[in-house]
Amino acid sequence: MEITLLGTGDTTGTPTVGCDCETCERSRDLGVERTRFSVHVRNERTGESLLIDASPDFRYQFLREGVDLPDAVLVSHVHFDHLDGLGNAYRLLDGVPVYAADETDPQTGESVVETIERKYSYLDAVDPRPATPFETIRTCGLDVTLVPVDHPPLVCYGVVIEDPETGATLSLSGDTSYDIPERSRDALADPDLFLADAIVPASLCEHHPIGGADHDDDGVPRTFGTKHMTREGALDLADELDADETRLVHLAHFYPVEEAFEEPLAVDGERYEL
Ligand SMILES: [Zn+2]
Ligand SMILES: [Zn+2]
Ligand SMILES: [Zn+2]
Repeated sequence: MEITLLGTGDTTGTPTVGCDCETCERSRDLGVERTRFSVHVRNERTGESLLIDASPDFRYQFLREGVDLPDAVLVSHVHFDHLDGLGNAYRLLDGVPVYAADETDPQTGESVVETIERKYSYLDAVDPRPATPFETIRTCGLDVTLVPVDHPPLVCYGVVIEDPETGATLSLSGDTSYDIPERSRDALADPDLFLADAIVPASLCEHHPIGGADHDDDGVPRTFGTKHMTREGALDLADELDADETRLVHLAHFYPVEEAFEEPLAVDGERYEL
């Protein structure tokens, strides 16, 4: 598996349009960026590529990284920064299978795959395919499993991708609080590489209207608000999952500049071979 981090930012990205904060200015100075979330997984044995989430920055990311167009797409949830790049399939892809969860979201009254069917009904280039959480599907020669995580009020899914030939495993937390169900933790465990949502450091929870949650023994919040893990929460989860390597993703420009480009915070364009 060849993994390329196409987009490692949150929904506004870094730099953020119109923002002159120190972190955005530093990213411009360093020539690094964090566009909206997406991960490219290439199976070198079959020559096929699987795209995890369809970033609104799809076109730019594929041009910048020079990676192959996807043979299949997997969508974790229906937020703009993970879904709305799917329209790029028009005149580029031909009936690309787009896998997404088939359980009804009480908030929207439809499943993720049904939302995709509805929003992209006009686009023959997109072929939505239902996937049942915890049931492994084979696509691009890889075993792929969606696992429910916690991203209220919407359903959202983490992802486990395993190469059936080598056993190499990539786990993604998806957009989630620290409060991931036990069964999902078990499925995400022991990855060679773990990509974890770590939107801000725990120190910023005091600025959130409802603060932080899921505090550790020292009182450090592992969830920022209700929807995302803090850096500390993501690292605790990585420890618990016994990940060989962890990169923190879905990062906001709110990281203080002296922390924003430290390890193990990812930037766009990183590549991993599993
Ligand atoms: Zn900024
Ligand atoms: Zn989200
Ligand atoms: Zn997101």
